Amino acid sequence: MDKMMRIEGKPVSEGYAVGPVYMMKKVTDRQVIHAYGEVEQELNRFQQAIEKSIEDLNQLYKRMLEKHGESEAKIFEAHREMLSDIEMHNQIEEEIRKTKCCAEWAVKTVGDQFVALFEGMDNPYFQERALDIKDITNRLIKNLMGQEDEHNLSVPSIIVAKDLTPSETCLLDKNKVLGIITEKGGQTSHSAIIARMLNIPYIVVPGILGDIDMDMDVAMSGSDGRLIINPKDDIIDEFKKLMQVQSQEQERYKTVKGLESISLDGHLISMKANIGSLEDMNQVMMSDAQGIGLFRTEFMYMNRKDLPTFEEQVKTYSEIIEKMEGKPVTFRTLDIGGDKKSDLFNIPEEMNPFLGFRGIRLCLEERDLFKTQLKAILVAALKGYAKVMFPMIASIQELWQAKEVLYEAQKELRMEAIEYSKKVPVGMMIETPSSVMMADLFAKEVEFFSIGTNDLTQYTLATDRMNPKVGYLYSGYDPSILRSIKKVAAAAKSENIDVSICGELGADINLLAYWLDCGIDSLSMSASSIEKAKWYIRHSDISKAKGLLEKVDEMPSEKQMHELMQEITKNTFQSP
Ligand code: PEP
Ligand code: MG
Repeated sequence: MDKMMRIEGKPVSEGYAVGPVYMMKKVTDRQVIHAYGEVEQELNRFQQAIEKSIEDLNQLYKRMLEKHGESEAKIFEAHREMLSDIEMHNQIEEEIRKTKCCAEWAVKTVGDQFVALFEGMDNPYFQERALDIKDITNRLIKNLMGQEDEHNLSVPSIIVAKDLTPSETCLLDKNKVLGIITEKGGQTSHSAIIARMLNIPYIVVPGILGDIDMDMDVAMSGSDGRLIINPKDDIIDEFKKLMQVQSQEQERYKTVKGLESISLDGHLISMKANIGSLEDMNQVMMSDAQGIGLFRTEFMYMNRKDLPTFEEQVKTYSEIIEKMEGKPVTFRTLDIGGDKKSDLFNIPEEMNPFLGFRGIRLCLEERDLFKTQLKAILVAALKGYAKVMFPMIASIQELWQAKEVLYEAQKELRMEAIEYSKKVPVGMMIETPSSVMMADLFAKEVEFFSIGTNDLTQYTLATDRMNPKVGYLYSGYDPSILRSIKKVAAAAKSENIDVSICGELGADINLLAYWLDCGIDSLSMSASSIEKAKWYIRHSDISKAKGLLEKVDEMPSEKQMHELMQEITKNTFQSP
């Protein structure tokens, strides 16, 4: 029996998993080395790699179609067509014959030539195709090296990878992926947020790739970060029991379904859901969500090769609004950038992507694209109740400019004689320290605030939300964050506007009493977390911790704040 090994990781998505490891090695053409091969054999290998790649793309197309729809799936159809391009085939075969190199090298060499050719063209459409060629050649190389796609897992497994992009996470098959372990990332990375929506346990373990290999068995806990490699039978039994306890707890939380989210001493708070796509609505419909507090619309711009049209956006937005039957749907306008990449935008390689060209900054430069999205929201809003909010606002000029684009969108719709809703409240996200400092003035400019604690934490503490090396600083319990939230809530109250929390901190059980005490109007979280949070709210009596809540402002450190919040939860929680 292989030696058992225990490692402490960072929990980022709750839950337990036991199973074999699947190493998700992302091959890039940089890893291809030159080698000689036997010509006929290499030609054969190349042929087989093409067939396998076409098979992969067919499956990906089907999966994407089921999960996200026709337009998102199109990218895989386009790749399949490009893969069948005779010109490229002939050149790769010619390279193998001429230089007697291995098929991997021939694919890389010819692929590089095609990429350079497309990149050098004047037409932006053809320039963008260079990225497709890179994708296709990487797929061919991966298949030549015999590496499977994680969606082809033959048995349910735990995915291990250096990192995972949000678009890769979107494609994971919940039935086959038992858990995720990556070297990079953090609790509020978008991959972690998606894993939470999909209910997949996830931990981050720096340096794990050196300790683990394909098909090893592991047990992992997304609740406390434990990872056990080659677990003995007693550990496997322990984890199976934990899974059982977890599902019993979930049954208990279900008992609050349909009930109000009100504390024992009468604090009422609205519980809403965060979504990233139309597909997430299935879970929302099964939950008790009183609306959508955050629709991360940027996910509509990922895993595809062309921008969503006005018509397509109207259709998707209308469907979501209709499904909510009069409950509010809050559209956060495109917030691409940071860890959310999309091939559709020309975002240069940046030293600090989270401080760079992202969110509202990009939208204010790509005004037409921004306006198209706003027009689609205004038109879809006729189907029910929609709100619009701008992300990443750092200065009041940005907010004024964003509102100006909104007025232009309304004006154009009037000129085009397209009907739209005139009752769309306009709000902004509070996720930069500057917006906290200026909250009193911002509150006069908008109809609601939504606090994005994921970014607010990284910007306030100057600690990258994706970097585990500085993860020790990244905590919403830092007094600076909780003070900021209180200040923003007070600014909202004095202007009589609504304030909600839509970052991950909103769902933290230990902070619920504090949110109620600060006067937060609503919490927006993954639909799967709503019942648990509501169950705790309904079993809390905030009046029991009045004295302790007054001490929050005195806490000097993250550690002391954490202890105080645990103490508050202990005092307010009334066991049923
Ligand atoms: C946030 O920053 O808290 C937020 C909700 O936005 P996102 O996580 O998408 O950056
Ligand atoms: Mg954010």
